[in-house]
Amino acid sequence: MSALSVLLVEDNPRNLKLARDVLEHAGFAVITAMSGEEALPAARAAVPDVILMDLQLPGIDGHAALSQLRADPVTAGIPVVALSAFAMQADRDRAIGSGFDGYLMKPISVREFPGQVRGHARGVWGEP
Ligand code: MN
Repeated sequence: MSALSVLLVEDNPRNLKLARDVLEHAGFAVITAMSGEEALPAARAAVPDVILMDLQLPGIDGHAALSQLRADPVTAGIPVVALSAFAMQADRDRAIGSGFDGYLMKPISVREFPGQVRGHARGVWGEP
């Protein structure tokens, strides 16, 4: 089975590096974007199995980027999981209510993160 592909959208370089390193170590193919504006063409080009979207981004935020992904037939079906540093139930509820397929809190759990991401990837049940 080929590697699961992930588009990771995160503007904080340290958070980006940690999440990318953890996922690559677990066998995922990772592409990255550091803004919502970068995420849209990257998602169109790669059509990844899952997108991890930081909610707080410069320029358009994660919610606005999600809307643009959903409006494009090429990217509309890709699962998009919110990443947020806000450990607040309201933030989680808002993310799910606005159409995200899941929600993961930062800081990520290095041990659990790959399994959490795999669980959200589109139609894949085996190992990446
Ligand atoms: Mn951010």
